[in-house]
Parts: sequence; C-alpha cells; structure tokens
Amino acid sequence: MHRAPRVSGSAWIQLVAALMIAVVAVLSPRFAFGDLEEHTTISDGGTGTVSSEGDPLQAGVATAGVSPAGTGYSIMKVSLNSGKTINARWNPCQSAVTWRANLSGLPKAKRAAMLKTITASFKRLSAATGITYRYQGTTTFVPKTGNLEKAPAEIVVAAVSKSRTDFPMNDNSLGYGGVLWSSWYGGTQGEGAAVMRGYVVLEAKAIQKLKTGFGSGLRQSNVILHELGHASGLEHVKDRKQQMYPTLTTASPSGFARGDLTGLKKVGRSAGCIAVPGYAGLKDLN
Ligand SMILES: [Zn+2]
Repeated sequence: MHRAPRVSGSAWIQLVAALMIAVVAVLSPRFAFGDLEEHTTISDGGTGTVSSEGDPLQAGVATAGVSPAGTGYSIMKVSLNSGKTINARWNPCQSAVTWRANLSGLPKAKRAAMLKTITASFKRLSAATGITYRYQGTTTFVPKTGNLEKAPAEIVVAAVSKSRTDFPMNDNSLGYGGVLWSSWYGGTQGEGAAVMRGYVVLEAKAIQKLKTGFGSGLRQSNVILHELGHASGLEHVKDRKQQMYPTLTTASPSGFARGDLTGLKKVGRSAGCIAVPGYAGLKDLN
C-alpha cells in the first residue's frame, strides 16, 4: 500500500497561508464580500491581508507571523477598525462548519482512501477545537484567490494539480491553506471579525508520493493536518516538532503536537462564541 516517498528528508511543505479580508456592511444584515481593490475605499469595515510562506529554496524568504522558536503556536491576526488586533477564528458556536472535497486530481482508485484520511483529519481537528465539522459531499470547486466567497461549503479541500489554482505553489509545494474572514464595526454589534471560509489545496501529484495513514514523518495525513491548521487560523511556527512547522520532514510529528493543540484550543470553542451580525448560516450554499 505504501509507496516509498520519493521526496527525501529534505522534502518540504510549501507553506503559505493567505488571509484576505472582506467587509461587512454594518447597517444591513448581510455580509458583503469583494476584492481588496474595492475595499480600499470602503470605510465600514476592516481590510488587509496577511500571508506567510516558507520555501527552503528561496533563501531569506520573509515569513510573516511566524512564532519565535519554542513558543509552539502562532495565530493569524485581524486588525479591527479601532486598531485592536484579534485572533482570526471561526465562530465555534455555529452548528457546524461544513466541508466538501474535490479529489478529481487523484486516480479514481485512490480517492476513497484519501477521503477517509481527510475525514479522520477533521475528526482530529474537531477534538482539538471543539468545533463540529460536517461533510457535505464532493465538489468540482477549486479554491482560488478570488472565488472563496462562492465556495460550495465553508471549507473545501481540493486534491488537484497546482496548475488548477492561482495560489503561489511551486515545484516543492505539497499543499496550501488559509482563511477568508469578514470584519464589522458600528451599530449595536460593536466590532469584531470571524472566519467565513477556509480552504485547503493538496498538490495531487506530490501528495501521492507520501505515506498513507497517520504517524510521524512524510505522510499525507500530516500535510492535511497542517493545511487544516491554516484553515483554522493557525500560522507557521519555527519549532520543527510542531505540525505547523513550514516544512514536512522525516521529523514531522505524528498528527498535531502540543503547540498545535494549544493554538487550536485558542481558536476553538473554549475561546467563546462570536456574535456575527446577521449570520444565519450558509443558506445560499446548499
Ligand atoms: Zn503552511
């Protein structure tokens, strides 16, 4: 069953988490998404981007928001209108965060096993965050920078060729993940922000070269958990014993490690509910 990884101990995950922000129209009970150019002139919500990437082939590449070595976890941040900065996180009290899978980049014979691994990864994520994730079936949707608000589920996990997306993946990329959030201020709701979409792209050809099953080292499951960490609001860390380390190595831990779990708890249910103005679920998606 297992294929020996062709990638050596110096294999890596291309680590990129892109965060984009959308604006909530405070006075009307709905969310409005738009692109960043539009947002630069809108004054009723926050705008901005945070991204990070780690590519060992590019010496000195900047990494935004990476925790100092040893601190174990780092959480993506959203700047609010007042200047206050808060953690990017889902409203953990919504009935469920829905997800769909697009495994069209894999040979048909390998899709069932991959879906099983992704499902098991969401179970581990749920145990860490206290959030319920609900699988809603397959999709042909491929996450891209400009289409996230139209995703057919709150999180889409797509195993496709990197050429299918415009996220900046390179020849060493195994995956790419991140979130789209909305922020609001004014009125009786005060100010706040919540993650509205998460996305995971698994490079289909590259991920097939990794071991199946859960465990340490160069495994599909560790890539999936890493990207789901990004889709939950986690950033990279400099501690290579955490799953959120930017590079997949033979020393990658078995599943989420201590720092990862601490970070996931801080973006999860124990951090409290977020009252999202006018949010009544993704009725338009189903
Ligand atoms: Zn990453």
